Amino acid sequence: MTDTISRTETTVLDHWVNGAPWAGASDRSGDVYNPALGTVQKHVRFASADDVDAVVGAASAAWAQWRDASIAKRQSVLFAFRELLNERKEELAEILTAEHGKVLSDARGEIARGMEVVEFACGVGHLTKGAYSENVSTGIDVYTLRQPLGVVGIISPFNFPAMVPLWFFSIALAAGNAVVLKPSEKDPTAANWLAGLLTEAGLPDGVFNVVHGDKEAVDALLEHPDVRAISFVGSTPIAKYVYERATSAGKRVQALGGAKNHMLVLPDADLDLAADAAVNAGFGSAGERCMAISVVLAVDSVADAFVAKVAERMGGLKVGDGRRGTDMGPLITGQHRDKVASYIDVAGSDGAAVVVDGRGIEVDGDANGFWLGPTLIDKVPTSSSVYGDEIFGPVLSVVRVSGYEEGLGIINASRYGNGTAIFTNDGGAARRFQREATVGMIGINVPIPVPVAYHSFGGWKASLFGDAKAYGPHGFDFFTAEKAVTSRWLDPSHGGINLGFPQHD
Ligand code: NAD
Repeated sequence: MTDTISRTETTVLDHWVNGAPWAGASDRSGDVYNPALGTVQKHVRFASADDVDAVVGAASAAWAQWRDASIAKRQSVLFAFRELLNERKEELAEILTAEHGKVLSDARGEIARGMEVVEFACGVGHLTKGAYSENVSTGIDVYTLRQPLGVVGIISPFNFPAMVPLWFFSIALAAGNAVVLKPSEKDPTAANWLAGLLTEAGLPDGVFNVVHGDKEAVDALLEHPDVRAISFVGSTPIAKYVYERATSAGKRVQALGGAKNHMLVLPDADLDLAADAAVNAGFGSAGERCMAISVVLAVDSVADAFVAKVAERMGGLKVGDGRRGTDMGPLITGQHRDKVASYIDVAGSDGAAVVVDGRGIEVDGDANGFWLGPTLIDKVPTSSSVYGDEIFGPVLSVVRVSGYEEGLGIINASRYGNGTAIFTNDGGAARRFQREATVGMIGINVPIPVPVAYHSFGGWKASLFGDAKAYGPHGFDFFTAEKAVTSRWLDPSHGGINLGFPQHD
């Protein structure tokens, strides 16, 4: 819902430019809800293309200095930022819970995983080291440098309003770029909070900026000639759109998309461990995680026992306001809640069995919140939209399979390839799985295999467009351009004219 701003200043979240809030010229805005209350708590400005142009201009001007800041200076800003973030993370967790709805403990987990990347970026000096080959030809040396790109754009989704921006901007800034972040309009406040903290940590004004908005702001970033690269995370259709549009505008692009993550449970698995994992990974953050487990492939011989164990655990989950010590909060909007619930409606007619129905669940929270309880659907046919669509809610499907081969075949036929997990005590099966699954991140008895910050995060197939994953070594490579230098210091023995292609001697 967007409309013209006719509100008091205190209820409107501004953009963040040159180290301070900035209203811009556009009069469009959007509503920001508290999903646990179902009410609008503030409004966020929606930038026009002209606003985006002004922000990119500020970032370009600031980059002219930041690109020359020493590695030591950049590291010291990131160290200070990490310390401030660690001291004040509770404030940020409260913002996340108030706008996203995830429970406070989960919000703290999001911040911790984002902070890991800041810590990785603090060691940027190590990553800048190039290669050096001495005397490739007589008296000639070749070496490589990695240099920042310039102004880079980051476009992030609603489900990790702090962690996903931290994945990208920590490394982009450490590498010497200037950043324009366009966060999700559904929970935008965390971005401004992080921007304020970067300023406090000593980042020069204009090096990190936030522009709020919708498609108009995104399109302006994708087309802007001074934006050199785009890092996007969101749903697959938008990831594909962003990738195609920004690459055709000549930019470097990494676009991480949606997911449908499978967990294969073999008969020799520890079923209690597997059931705990399925519940944690299926219903944490109300299933609004790109690495959530949304499908369990249970081998027939253990499927009944496994489903019973999952259902039993689901009975103990407390749903409600994330500030009250509950296990699971609301969904992001009423519209999204209704869409997720509609899959429970179709499950029966598609031949599946709804084992636990989350509609109408009793909650510890306001009646107007966007609630939907944990839902378990068994015997889901792979032809059903319950199986095929990314539902992005607390709906866990079970597909029964005859064994490893059928399970692997289903995983590899999926259009998505973000994460997957196998639960087994058979090392040989696990090793085959890590080799044979066409998925970017594999868990072996680990349901949410998000790599640590010094590896890189990214899926395959429709879960990632482009060839650069997020953070880790891929992240640093993405935010820098390599230059190869061939150098000869003057030596009279190399004089003379020769128009032939250079050869070595
Ligand atoms: P989304 O695609 O709706 O929005 C993502 C961003 O794109 C937002 O900033 C939004 O403002 C912008 N956007 C939306 N529609 C647009 C349009 N038509 N043109 C231009 N820009 C547009 O995604 P979301 O609902 O915010 O986030 C959930 C999705 O993100 C899920 O599909 C989830 O799997 C995915 N996700 C993926 C990863 C990953 O690492 N692969 C991580 C987190 C989330």
